[in-house]
Amino acid sequence: MKPVAKPGKTGALMPVEVALARLLEMAEAAPIVEHEHLPLAQVQGRVLSEDLFSTLDLPPWPNSAMDGYALNLGQWNGQPLSVSQKVFAGQSPQPLKPGTCARIFTGAPVPAGADCVEMQENAEVEADGKVRFLEPMKAGQNIRPQGQETTVGELILPAGTRLGPIEQGLAASLGCAGLKVVRRVRVAVVSTGDELVEPGQALGPGQIYNSNRVLLCSWLQRLGCEVIDAGILPDDLATTRARLGELQDVDLILSTGGVSVGEADFLGIALREEGELALWKLAIKPGKPLTVGHFRCVPVIGLPGNPASTLVTFALLARPYLLRRQGVREVEPLKFTVPAGFAWPVAGNRREYLRGRLEQGRATVYRNQSSGVLRSAVWADGLVEVVEGRTLSEGDEVAFIPLSDLLG
Ligand code: AMP
Ligand code: MG
Repeated sequence: MKPVAKPGKTGALMPVEVALARLLEMAEAAPIVEHEHLPLAQVQGRVLSEDLFSTLDLPPWPNSAMDGYALNLGQWNGQPLSVSQKVFAGQSPQPLKPGTCARIFTGAPVPAGADCVEMQENAEVEADGKVRFLEPMKAGQNIRPQGQETTVGELILPAGTRLGPIEQGLAASLGCAGLKVVRRVRVAVVSTGDELVEPGQALGPGQIYNSNRVLLCSWLQRLGCEVIDAGILPDDLATTRARLGELQDVDLILSTGGVSVGEADFLGIALREEGELALWKLAIKPGKPLTVGHFRCVPVIGLPGNPASTLVTFALLARPYLLRRQGVREVEPLKFTVPAGFAWPVAGNRREYLRGRLEQGRATVYRNQSSGVLRSAVWADGLVEVVEGRTLSEGDEVAFIPLSDLLG
């Protein structure tokens, strides 16, 4: 890993795009280079490690897009034609006998010599079995030409492609039984704080349930990571160092909490003493403090502990970092503008990611945007991005990032 950037001047906030660019640079300096060959059915959520080229023309031969009749329009005299053969999908036709047509079904190869398929709805079989064509026809109609989708040697999926059902389907159509994928990135999830208790246990005075742990573990799994659930770290330096020391074979330690430059920032102390620490103050809300560094040789990202802050900083910073470590090029989420269904009269100095929804095409936001309120994100179906220094009137364009894109 390259040395992490020094924190900015006291008081100066780091813009989100600067933080992202630095994290991506760090990710590129520590790529996951190992790969494995997996059966096609098992590559879901993984990242392709080498370019996939087509070894086939798709379709391999011209085929019919309709159930109907194949004929040679160029030589047709306008009279009804007798049917000289029947071609179903999966069969290999004879060349078309001159002066006849072929009965043909969807997906069947078009006989050599035919240049047009007419759908059966536009044809009539006469008493003598000849076929009368009822509508004007055009050469090439209803024929899917050879190689319309891919041709031999064409780059189909570049290395770094994230694989899902659609990519799996395309690879299958090219006959790939398996693919080479990047090894899963191993992420240790660490929650910090003496106040945390796991669900299922009784809450004592001053205690809260640990919500970030399951949130991050589940999310990381959706991103194709191998998750090492490292539990809760108490606010204690010796334990923090010992427990971090047990996580030496992971690609990233992802922690939450303990980054607010408070006295209980034992993670920061441990990093400073046994690795490298940068505390970034980000122009982001919810969020702001972010720990970036490493413990011994293991990269560490420390997200703020409030659940909505954890969510937003993971979505916008840690997620792209993890994808880039696996070689993914397109790491930024889908973002589009919609009219604001709310006013934002006072400009902030941090970029706000409001938990919001689209209602009648307008972005509306949850009534309570506190960084401690995770319910806002359950209500929401996206993050509404209000950049620093910006005010909004209702109806002004505002950026919207769907949660569905961030979660996958
Ligand atoms: P900290 O950065 O440790 O000061 O935490 C900021 C806030 O987030 C505090 O209110 C913590 O109790 C809360 N918090 C930290 N970690 C978690 C967690 N894993 N689950 C739920 N809340 C948390
Ligand atoms: Mg804490």
